[in-house]
Formats: sequence, structure tokens, C-alpha cells
Amino acid sequence: LRQVGMQFHASADGVAASEEVFRVLETPLPARGERTDVPDLRVSPLYLYDVTVSYPGRDVPALEGFDLELRPGEVVALTGPSGAGKSTALAVLLGFVEPERGVVVAAGSAADEFDPVAWRRQFAWVPQRPGLRLGTVADNVRLGRPDASDDEVRLALLAAGAADLLLDKPVGEQGQQLSGGQQRRVALARALLTDAPVLLLDEPTAGLDADTEASVITGLRSSGRTVLMVAHRPALIAAADRTVTVGARELVNA
Ligand code: ATP
Repeated sequence: LRQVGMQFHASADGVAASEEVFRVLETPLPARGERTDVPDLRVSPLYLYDVTVSYPGRDVPALEGFDLELRPGEVVALTGPSGAGKSTALAVLLGFVEPERGVVVAAGSAADEFDPVAWRRQFAWVPQRPGLRLGTVADNVRLGRPDASDDEVRLALLAAGAADLLLDKPVGEQGQQLSGGQQRRVALARALLTDAPVLLLDEPTAGLDADTEASVITGLRSSGRTVLMVAHRPALIAAADRTVTVGARELVNA
């Protein structure tokens, strides 16, 4: 489990290949349950109770006594200083990292009772540096929903602030033919195209100008999804229904 946790972090940092991101997403964790009747997060709130995570070889927990309530349809900004544990909180929700203490709960059941692949289908995750696969922009967006039409792909790109990207543009190996910002836009479009009820986003508007940021925020809000986003930028924080600060035990209402 710890190895998967480390793999997750390497992937989120863009250190590992994009294939690794997908491999991690598709790899079931052995110590988890087999239930596939996952709670419907369109209607069930999601809770993290008193979650503490310690990585091997680190004296100080990466996340300590962290509580979070995520209600269906709300947009929550996760703030806190660098290294406070924001990405780790997303990793716990996704089941990539097993808490040393505490629990993730929805509809009265603990997340670790469920088959991890079924559990993760409820989330669309856009890490800080998402890996893209080879192929075109459209191919990569369509990973969110393989049967999406070109118009649906274009709409998703528009909502993600990347209306200027041509569908048939090759992304190159590891997405290297796109800028870091463009890669994030493509990954966000992919997330928006899924039907996952919960979007977990790591600074989704980083690198965007103010106008495009505003249109992405509108796109996120109008998606009707539950959004938990790591946010540093004031416009993004202001757009959230609530702000939760990591590194402080109390919830702060925006
Ligand atoms: P940032 O805003 O800089 O992205 P963050 O709030 O998201 O930071 P995390 O990435 O969750 O913070 O990291 C929390 C702490 O845990 C940091 O001290 C980090 O170095 C450490 N950490 C994260 N992943 C691992 C890992 N796989 N192995 C060891 N330590 C880790």
C-alpha cells in the first residue's frame, strides 16, 4: 500500500510516466473490500474523519487529524501551505493511500469495504501534472468517455478553457507537444466528460489568464458536480462555496 502511495505521489508530481498514472488508477489495492454497491455520491455526502497519514521514512505525518465533509453538488476549496497535505487528502479519498488512523465514509459505509476500482469510478481526478497518453488532444479527452462525439469533446475543451486547442493536434510522448497549462486543460476536459459525480482537482486554473479562469470556474459550477479543488488563486477560492484549510483542524467558512 505504501508503495502505491509513493507511486501516486510520483505520478502527481509528473515524475512518473503517464502510463503509470493509468496503471495506478487501474490497479486494485489488495487490502480493500470487494463490495461493488458503492454509495451514490450524487446524493450521499462524503466524510473524512480524523484522518492521519504517515509516509515511510518521515517523522512528521503528512496529514494529521484531518476532517472533511463534502456534500453533493458543493464546490469546496482546499487551501493550506505547501506540504500541508492537500494532495495527500485527495489520495486518501481516491484510496491510493491508506490512512494510519481515521476513515473515509459515505452512506454509513467505510470506503475500504468497497472494491477500489468501483470506488474510484465515482471520482474524476486531475493531478497537478497529469500524464497524457500518446495520440491527439481528442483521443486524450475521450478517455473520459470513449463514445463522446467531436462536438462533446469540443464542449468539454471549451468548459476547461481550451477552446483554442485543435482536436487533431498530437500531444506527443508524455504530452510534450503541449505546454503544462494545455496538458492540464486537456485533463480537465477529460474529467468533465466523465460522468463521475465528484471532481478532485489540483489547482485547476493554474497558468490561466483571468478571463479564461472565470470561464473555467463557470464551467465547473455549471457542471453540477461535487468539486473538491486544491486552490491557491484568490478567484478560485472566492468561487468556492466553502474553504477547508489543511494543516488546521477547524473548517473555515468562506
Ligand atoms: P503542495 O501544495 O506543495 O502540493 P500539499 O499540501 O499537496 O503540497 P502533499 O503533497 O500532500 O502536500 O505532501 C504532504 C507531506 O508529505 C510533504 O511533506 C511531502 O513531502 C510528504 N509526502 C508526500 N508524498 C510522499 C511520499 N510518497 N513519500 C514520502 N513523503 C511524502
